[in-house]
Amino acid sequence: MKVVSAKFVKSAVRLAQYPTDGRPEFAFVGRSNVGKSTLLNMLLNRKGLAKTSKTPGKTQTINFFDVNGHIYFVDLPGYGYAKVSKAAKQRWERVMTDYLRKREPLRLVVQLLDARHEPSDRDHEMLELLDRAEAPTLIVATKVDKLKRAKRDTSLAAIRKSLELDEDALIVPCSALTGEGKRELWRVMDDLT
Ligand code: GDP
Repeated sequence: MKVVSAKFVKSAVRLAQYPTDGRPEFAFVGRSNVGKSTLLNMLLNRKGLAKTSKTPGKTQTINFFDVNGHIYFVDLPGYGYAKVSKAAKQRWERVMTDYLRKREPLRLVVQLLDARHEPSDRDHEMLELLDRAEAPTLIVATKVDKLKRAKRDTSLAAIRKSLELDEDALIVPCSALTGEGKRELWRVMDDLT
C-alpha cells in the first residue's frame, strides 16, 4: 500500500472508545524502547507521527492511526518498564486482553523483538497472551542494522529457538535505518487487507 495519508485518530482504553467503522486493523506491540514508534513512522513515511502520541501518563492507552482512510494502525501500550506497580501491570494486561479478544477488525498483531537480544520473560508473557487470545501474530526483529551478517543469523536463530518457532515460521528482520523489512511488512499487511 502506498501511504498517501496517515494521521493520529485517538487514544482509547475501553472497547466503547475504539473506532467503529470496521476497517482492517494492524496492531504493534513490544517492550518499551524496542523501536516501535520508529517502525511505525518508517512504515508510514512520517517522522514524528507515532512519537507525538507518546506523552507521559498515556503509556497505557491504545493509539489508533488512520492510514489512507482505509486501514488502522494500532499502537498498543509498551511493556517492560523498569518500575511498574503490580496494579499498573494488571491494568495493562486488562487493556490488552480486552483489545485482543474483542477486536473483530484485527487482522494481525506485529510483535516486535530487538534482533540483538533473546526474548525477555516479559516478551514471552506477551506472546503467551497473544496465543491465549488467538491473535494472528507476526514477529519482527528490530534494529538489525546493529548486527553484522554472521551475528545476525545466529541472533535470529536464537530468537527462533527461544520462541520454539517452526523453521518456516516468518520472522521479518527490520531496520528503520536502512529501510529493510518495510516492503515485506507491507506485503504481508496488504495480503490481509
Ligand atoms: P519505542 O519505545 O519502542 O517506541 O522505541 P523507539 O522507536 O523510540 O526507539 C528506541 C530507540 O531505538 C531510539 O533511540 C531509536 O532511534 C532507536 N531505533 C529504533 N529503531 C532502530 C533501528 O532500526 N536501527 C537503529 N540503529 N536504531 C533504532
